Order: sequence, then C-alpha cells, then structure tokens
Amino acid sequence: MDKKYGAYICTGCGIGDALDIEGLTGAAKEQGMQAKVHEALCSVAGRELIQNDINNDGVNTVVVCACSPRVMKDEFNFGDDKYVTRANLREGVAWCAEEVTESRSAEKVKEFATEKGQDYVRMACVQAKKGDLPDPYKLETINKKILVMGGGIAGMTAAMDAAKAGYAVTIIEAQDKLGGKALGWRKQFPTAAPWTGLEEPTVQAMVAAVQAEAGITLKTATEVARIAGAPGAYKVTLKAAGTKSEWDAPKKVGVDEQDKITKGEMEDPNLGLQPYMAEDTAAEDFGAVVLATGWNPADVSEYAHLGYGKLKNVVTNAEFEKLAKTGKVPASVAFVQSPGGAEHDQDFPYCNSVTSMVALKQARYVREDNAAEGKAYVLYQHMRTPGNMEMFYKGAQNDDGIFMTKATVTQVEESGNGLAVHLKDTLLNEDVTLNVDMVVLAAGMVPTTSDKPTINLAYRQGPAFLDLELFDGYADSHFICFPYETRRTGVYACGGVRKAMNMEETIDDACGAALKAIQSIESADRGVAVHPRSGDGTYPEFFFQRCTQCKRCTEECPFGALDDDEKGTPKPNPTRCRRCGTCMGACPERIIGFKNYNIDQIGSMVKSIEVPDDDEDKLRIIVFACENDAYPALDMAAMRKLPQNALVRVVSVRCLGSVNMAWIKDALAAGMDGALLLGCKFGDDYQCHFVKGSELAEKRMANIGETLGSLGLEPERCGVRQIAINEYNKVDEIINEFVEEIIGLGPNPFKGF
Ligand code: SF4
Ligand code: SF4
Repeated sequence: MDKKYGAYICTGCGIGDALDIEGLTGAAKEQGMQAKVHEALCSVAGRELIQNDINNDGVNTVVVCACSPRVMKDEFNFGDDKYVTRANLREGVAWCAEEVTESRSAEKVKEFATEKGQDYVRMACVQAKKGDLPDPYKLETINKKILVMGGGIAGMTAAMDAAKAGYAVTIIEAQDKLGGKALGWRKQFPTAAPWTGLEEPTVQAMVAAVQAEAGITLKTATEVARIAGAPGAYKVTLKAAGTKSEWDAPKKVGVDEQDKITKGEMEDPNLGLQPYMAEDTAAEDFGAVVLATGWNPADVSEYAHLGYGKLKNVVTNAEFEKLAKTGKVPASVAFVQSPGGAEHDQDFPYCNSVTSMVALKQARYVREDNAAEGKAYVLYQHMRTPGNMEMFYKGAQNDDGIFMTKATVTQVEESGNGLAVHLKDTLLNEDVTLNVDMVVLAAGMVPTTSDKPTINLAYRQGPAFLDLELFDGYADSHFICFPYETRRTGVYACGGVRKAMNMEETIDDACGAALKAIQSIESADRGVAVHPRSGDGTYPEFFFQRCTQCKRCTEECPFGALDDDEKGTPKPNPTRCRRCGTCMGACPERIIGFKNYNIDQIGSMVKSIEVPDDDEDKLRIIVFACENDAYPALDMAAMRKLPQNALVRVVSVRCLGSVNMAWIKDALAAGMDGALLLGCKFGDDYQCHFVKGSELAEKRMANIGETLGSLGLEPERCGVRQIAINEYNKVDEIINEFVEEIIGLGPNPFKGF
C-alpha cells in the first residue's frame, strides 16, 4: 500500500499539562511527520480533523498519539483500509508521571515525561512505517458442518443448539445408543422451585428430540479414526467403535517418513502433508469439532484405609447410582466426601459441588427405599451447594434420617455383617464409629482426555492435546478466560470432559461450546482469528527461502498450527493459528512475521528510542509487556495514578512467546541498559493466554543471558517477571525493583559505541 501519513497529538485528559507538546511534535517531525495537535482527538471535532485529512489529503496511515491503544478503539477506527497506530501518552506517560518530590522538581518530572512521550511518538511513527494492513487468509472452500464427539447430555445439547442455529451436525457416539452416563441415573437434581425434591430423568426426552432433529446425523457405535486438516477444512475418518485403524499408533511425522506420502495428498491444500499418510477415501468434511466425550469416575483404591476394592460394600458414587437405578439401596449408608487420613482437609481429586450434591441425592434414595429405618450419613470436609441448590441442601438437612457432619474418616473395616466407619467429628471434636451397611466414596469426575489423550489428530505435533499432564488431563487452552477452547483451535470441549459439572451446568456449557464451534467456522470463513485475538486478520507469513528447517517454530507453536511439507519445511495451517507470534519469537532466522507485527517493525521501534549516552541519570530500560495481562495491568495502575518509573519504555507484545531475542540484542546494542519481559504467570497457576509463552520466554532469556555473559555484559540486564492482570498495584514495584538492579549495574558499557 502506498502510504500517506497523518500524525495527531492529543492534549486532552491531562496530556497537555504533563508533557511539553512542542517536544512531541518535534519527535514526530524527526520521523518525517508533521503532527497536528488537538485538545480532544476522540471528540467529534478531533475525529473530524483526522477524517478530513483522510477525505481531502488521502491520508491512509494514521498515527494517533493520545490514550492507550486498549481504549477508544471505535473512535480511532477509520475503516478497514486505514492503518492506525497508537502512542500511549495518556496512561503510558501523563497518568503515570512520577511524583514531584524534594529531590525531583516539577520541571524535572515534566522533562522526563516528555522524553518518554517523545519516544512513544517516535515508536508509533516507526510502527506505522514498518507495518501494514492485514490481508486475511481465506480458505478457497469452507465446510460448516460440525462434528460432535460424544452423545451424552453435553453432546446432544451442543448438537441441538448448533442445529437450531442452522448448522448441520453429526454426532458420533462410541456406545450403541445415545444418552451417555445419564441413562444410568435414577433421579435428577431439582431444576425448579421449591428446589427440594428429586426429578425424573429427562435424558430419554432429549434422545427423542435429537433423533427427530433433521439437521443432526447420528452415528452410534462409531469413533474417530483420524482428524486431519484445520478449522473450516477438517477431513475426518470414522471407524466402528472398538476397532483398530491404520492411524492408531500415534507418532510424529519425521522427514524420513515423508516419502510415504502420496502425491495427491501433497497437493491437497486442505489436507496438506499429514503425519499419517495412508489413503483416506472415506474421510468426511467438517468445519469444527465439539468434544463432549465426558468423564470417568476417579480411581479411589489408593486410599487403603477406606477399603475400596477390598471391602465388598465400599463402592463409588457412580456404582451406588447404578445400584439405586436397578434395585433397592441398603438401609444405612455412609457417604464419604473426602479421603481423610493424611489429606484430611482435602476433597477427593476431581471433585467439586457436583459430588456434594450427588451425595445429597443418593442420601434421598436411602430414605425413599427404606422409609423410617433408612439412615444416611454424609461425612464431608466441604459441602458445596451453589445457587438454588442451597434449598436442596436445606431439604436434606431437615430430613430426620439424613445426618451431615464435617468429619475426617480414619478407617473403614468390616464389622459383623456390615461396615464400621471410624471418624473424627471435627464439629464436635469427638471420635465416632458408625455401623453401616454400605460406604459410598465420592469419586471425582476425571475427564476422558486424561485416560485417552488422543483425538487422533493428524498434526505434526502428534495426535493428542499436548501437555495434558500439566493441566490435570484437561484440554483447555486457558482455564480462566477462554472456556471451551482447547489447545487445538477448532476443537471445543464441554461437559464433564471440561470440568466436573452437573446436568444443568452441562446444558449451559454445551451451548457455549456449540457457539464457539460456530464462531470458529465463521472466523475461518472471514479469515480472522478466534480468541484471544478475535477478529485479527493477520497471520504469520514465512520467508521460506531462508528457512533452515530447524523446526523451532513447528515445535513451539502452542496450537499445533504448523506441519511439515514434503521437504521438511514448516507448512502453515492459518485457520489453526491463534496469532500469538510464538513462532516469530522462536525463529532464529527471523523470517516469520505478521503484516502489522514483525521482527523489523518492533526492532526498528526499539531502535527509535533515544538513548542519552552522556547522562547517568537517564538510563533506558525496555519493557516488553504482554498485551493480555501486563499491559492492561500497567494501564490500570496509571488509571489509579500510580507512578511508573520514568526510565522505562514499554512496548506491547502479543505474547512473551512472540518476543524474538533479536529485539533484546537490538535494544542492548542501541545502548539501552536493561530489558525486561513482563508477562503472564506460568507453572501451576498458569495464566498465559497462549498456553506457554511466558515459560518459553523465560527459557530463551536464560540463553540470551549466557550470550551476554560471553560478551562481557551482565546477564542480569535481561529479566522476566510475571504479573496477573489484577496485580496492577504491584506492577510498578516489580518494574522499580528491576530498574534499581540495572542502576546498581550502572550504564551499559557499550553505550555510545
Ligand atoms: S502465531 Fe502462534 S498459533 Fe500461529 S503458527 Fe505461530 S505459534 Fe502457532
Ligand atoms: S524457526 Fe524459522 S528457520 Fe526454523 S524451521 Fe521455523 S521458519 Fe524455518
């Protein structure tokens, strides 16, 4: 695109008071842009100023120097054919200016703030010069049919909701009939006032409705043999349940295996080169997948003191439900909700409110089947009955035959014809022994992805969801922010495979996954990303002539978006891509980039920062802040007028995984004194929106630290710090600590060279 630039500086919201505006226009001028100044660019008059330049002077690349790029997005959107960059002068400088103190005069504060503002103006101008408008990748043909794996409550609901929205759906179910585990339930939780009584199961009515729905194709006793392709263009091969297929032995494709690929498959733009290259004539086309394969009861045999597997009448809650469905339950039953022993204050793994409510439901069976002599003892550490289920809990509490107490079970053993349950009642602080006919353990709901991690994806990274062991077997890409989204774009999980949940929750959940599947298909059709960069029309482009086939990009992509071609070169699947830029950060050849986010652009922005080489009070520290947590936290800190260190210059990045170490080298080579990566938390509490970007950044920074050491620079000049979005009150402290460390090291010895 032939660019015609327009730069605009806002003096509203305190910017004009905190910064020297002439200094800012001067910085734009250095970049060849004659900036216009307005008192409120976001106002009607301010926007008109810009729009008139677009209409009358042909401006198509707009540099807005005003508030954070996270706000006023609509106000500064001048159409899809106009490229807009933003300099964050308000939150990034004016609102976080340092406080005037005895040692720092008002003039000095303004001088430092203006220098920071000038750098942000320079960077926004360079960003405009080096970036371009997105050119969305679109599939030539798109298939909008949805495959639902699993025909239980979750799968049936997702299928019905998608069908009602006008999308063709195929349900595959490994069993020979629909209904899943709900077929074995005797009663359901209440779904209406007064929320105290049990209800008759509705699963058969759901099955009948699904069977009558014209938009749904049913395939029972069927499993997936292979899923190849990408969102909007999946090729799915099905097989009879329980049978083997040629793709059952999962393995990663290697260059040495490429010769097994048929020529036809190589040329198929949708299928592309895939790990399992046998003829696949029976494949069906789909656009997205809903994963509703449910859960399995957790193994509770490891708790030896509870006797499961050894004592005949110690059963799980799932086994008790079967017994209750087919016959009469015993007259006295203890429901053990937590393992006791050394883990006395914990629940069983994979438990939550569902297992509390199941115990209350099953206690009711004891009362229903045994009238006056029925006695149910619910022994819990945590009783969770959210929302209206509090009434259900109260109903059980008011039943004379249901006894509930907080207790630690120390031993279950045979006693006469029954069982003796030894416990410490932690409410009464008494040791108690209960003599019962049966003990029911609250086994949790383990996602099927834990036992069977593969959905037979024909992806270079393998057929399964990666890193399941790190996430307790769950396939989510982000457990807080993006429900339903797995670590494979286009595959959306719901129901028990996503979280332990009851039927009502499952129905809501399935609707969400169906909508996500539809969103994925429609996003692929428009050539834009799904969460978290929904609507982003860019995608990674590769300059393959310089690719060394090192495969770092294919291996580090958190979403398996890259396969290999016949020569072993990365083969992008843009509709699988979430636009995180991890591949760009990984590539040592620096040949991956997006139209509006690339190595040259960010590197040039960094180099445009003015680094004084004769003033020890003016060290410069570059902070690459992830746009998902760290950058918002910085904005929020500024909204609370928390001062930010005047020496830092912040660059927003898509993910710390996208930070190419070339930028760090550029910064230090330009004389900057330190480089900090500020991103999401990783480890057990991971919050990275792109699964592992911050973790990768930590590893890469450790490597660059070694390189710096060999150059005679202190490795401590480069750091990685973690921050959650709600820790805005800590972010300045974290930055200040790092800056203090750099001040302690002194100026970059290569400054000025
Ligand atoms: S941008 Fe992210 S999701 Fe897309 S190919 Fe690169 S690493 Fe994979
Ligand atoms: S990281 Fe870069 S050089 Fe390595 S395979 Fe990927 S594109 Fe090629």
